[in-house]
Amino acid sequence: MKIKFYYIRWFILAVSFVLLTFGVQIFGFRTDKVYIPTLACPFTFEGIMHSSCYYLIHPQQFFAIPAVLVSVIVSFIIFSIIFGRMLCGFACPFGLLQDILYKIRQLFRIKPIRFSEKHYKWISFVKWVLLAIFLGGFYFGINFCYFCPAMVTTPAFAGSVIPIYLSGFIAIFFVAGSFYKQRLFCTMCPFGLLIGLFSKISFFRLKKDCTACTECGACYEACPMGIKEIYTEREKTDITTHNCLFCGECVRLCPENNGLALSFFRKKFYIATRKDFFKEQGLKNEEKVKKVDLLTKNIDSLLKVEGKEKSHAGNNSGKKSRGA
Ligand code: SF4
Ligand code: SF4
Repeated sequence: MKIKFYYIRWFILAVSFVLLTFGVQIFGFRTDKVYIPTLACPFTFEGIMHSSCYYLIHPQQFFAIPAVLVSVIVSFIIFSIIFGRMLCGFACPFGLLQDILYKIRQLFRIKPIRFSEKHYKWISFVKWVLLAIFLGGFYFGINFCYFCPAMVTTPAFAGSVIPIYLSGFIAIFFVAGSFYKQRLFCTMCPFGLLIGLFSKISFFRLKKDCTACTECGACYEACPMGIKEIYTEREKTDITTHNCLFCGECVRLCPENNGLALSFFRKKFYIATRKDFFKEQGLKNEEKVKKVDLLTKNIDSLLKVEGKEKSHAGNNSGKKSRGA
């Protein structure tokens, strides 16, 4: 199931990219009623549906036509509640571009850039500033599209020629950056943050069994969004945060049975299992213990959790022993 989920995500990303970039050319129609909340730039003019980002940035257009206003808001709320940031993980064309670049880096075994907690704190500040510009810039004469890396990339794939503005240089920065840091732009995307604000009520959830967790930190190391809670949480079973893309990388790399799982309407559909972890890693028996121990050492150097020693001592009593 794990491997299937991994390929299903890539497949949906690819289909979504084709539909949102060349959909009109292939099927000959575009829906004007549904506005998908992903960074599929409407300047493409070839996508099978428009992205709602354009209308949120240009409220004058959307207030002028009540039908568009209703469609954009209703589409945005429904998509965000049902899918949450799964839209970013599974449907965003700019997300796919970043994933492909990161995959190329992995194939060439080039060292990635890892962000520390301090970096993520700064990014957290930046993304709220960007959200303020995204939603409020219009009222101060600032157009967020001029800064958006997707304004250049998606239309370029569809062969649309558009003025580049500053967004072209910003796109080069993020495209190059995502080669070294997975989903670099997603960590600060204001549109993704807006969708993530529905995370408390969205249908897809990320679950953790804290009694199964051995605090190896593999999940944190795998997470493109640097979500610390997936590793540090010791009580809650629902660890969904507004940053989570539901990419499933943490579940894929969690070595404990039921340690992490993705669920839809309380039904777990993608669950971490020790068997799948070792199968995927292609490890022989004697290598298994070493692998889990290595994960623990790596994470200690990546993440300095305040009072971690104390927390380990306090939590180990109810934990299963680590090993193959
Ligand atoms: S928490 Fe897990 S599912 Fe969410 S973004 Fe991180 S790796 Fe992906
Ligand atoms: S990968 Fe699994 S076992 Fe390791 S810290 Fe994360 S949840 Fe716990």
